[in-house]
Amino acid sequence: MFLIFVLLAIIATLIVVGIIRTLVLRRKHDEITLPTSLPDTQKAIEKLQHAITFKTVSSREEGETDWDQFTQLAAYLAEAFPLCEKYLKLESESEHNLIYRFTGEETTALPGLLTAHQDVVSANDEEWSHPPFAKTLEEGYVWGRGSFDCKLQLITILEAFELLLQENKKPKRTWYAAFGCDEEVNGGNKGASLIAEQFERMGLTFSILLDEGGVVSENYINGIDRPIAVVGVAEKGYMDTHLSCSREAGHSSTPLMPTALGKIAKAVTAIESSKQEARITKPVQAMLRNIGEEAPFPFAFLFLNLWLTRPLIMFIFSKSPTLNALIRTTSVPTMIEGSDKSNVIAQTSSAVVNTRLLSGDDREKTVRHLKTVIADNEVALSVSRYEEPSKESPTTGEAFAQLKATISQIFPEAIVTSYLMLGATDARKYQELCQHIYRFTPAQMDKREVHRMHAPDERIHTDNVGKAVAFFLSLLKSW
Ligand SMILES: [Zn+2]
Repeated sequence: MFLIFVLLAIIATLIVVGIIRTLVLRRKHDEITLPTSLPDTQKAIEKLQHAITFKTVSSREEGETDWDQFTQLAAYLAEAFPLCEKYLKLESESEHNLIYRFTGEETTALPGLLTAHQDVVSANDEEWSHPPFAKTLEEGYVWGRGSFDCKLQLITILEAFELLLQENKKPKRTWYAAFGCDEEVNGGNKGASLIAEQFERMGLTFSILLDEGGVVSENYINGIDRPIAVVGVAEKGYMDTHLSCSREAGHSSTPLMPTALGKIAKAVTAIESSKQEARITKPVQAMLRNIGEEAPFPFAFLFLNLWLTRPLIMFIFSKSPTLNALIRTTSVPTMIEGSDKSNVIAQTSSAVVNTRLLSGDDREKTVRHLKTVIADNEVALSVSRYEEPSKESPTTGEAFAQLKATISQIFPEAIVTSYLMLGATDARKYQELCQHIYRFTPAQMDKREVHRMHAPDERIHTDNVGKAVAFFLSLLKSW
């Protein structure tokens, strides 16, 4: 009995300590100040619509990319942004990449770099409500492949530059803009990697790099009403593992079991039902703290007392695919191959497993995990592509503070936080040139809307075009 009392007393004390900590750490949301009036963005909307009509689809297969579309897009940009073309455009030493330099007032300050990509993923007309490469404006949205990823970023950066030039104004520091041509190609080496090499030859380093990334997300966490602006400070690693199994085939009328295909299928199922160890990395810890400081009390209690609530957080996060990906390395089978005839048993069967690695994990650890889970010596593993998790950018310092302030100015309702990017961007190609790399797309949308990005019916609300231009204008003027 006495022991139960002691136990209850300890639990009560822990909860009270948690509540006091929450009350101390939680911040009251400042009065919302409306954003400064948005610039007239009709022109930017039209330019975005036009930019979508160029089918700048990049492909991994040599010879399959229609480079002429990139040439046409570049010609259109020259015409749509004549002042940028005349005063800011630099010679790119690599084909189909675009570079601009806007010299600022403070020429001694380290320059900033804004990046986006010109290429898009392919689109199948039949799956779309509107043609993917047309100038559709419906229901307040610009529709089309690239409307969000990433021509929004590209067009609104140039529009902000053009508007400043029209007013005969300069940004505070010097800003570069770089638009590569192959971000969507896994492991592409024609775009940002060549631009980064050129910058290196030019002896450049940057005070801040802003690439596409997290958005101002509505309903990011169920129960938190305010939108959450998520700024990527790190990216997960990427790995493709090839599984293969060879066995005596036999004839399908007298089958010899198990088949190679059966073994691969079993391996794939085992991977799907296994989970890798969960842990809260630095960017996610910072995200929980930032959201906790401004969230309703129950969330604040959960997020600000990790010392007490960690197991519960792990449990809750594990239930959502997006949140689960923030706390563990994930592996998923994406391709499988057996025989190509219905009455022939495959002698060799294979599959590809795609893994996204949390920082701290690596190729060897992942291969060990996959081998243990598959537990079959007849299934051979080989890694066909590997990119380690990116470095983590700091969330302290002037660059991040200025970025946060700019986001709050344009999206005053939002809770602004750093987070871990789940997908890969061009940003990692510039890692040697800048320590403050942030991944953020200045657009507000529902969490589900983001999934249209590489899917049918990609679109962007016209309000977001205005906000993105205002965001870049504000950043250029203030930092
Ligand atoms: Zn993109």
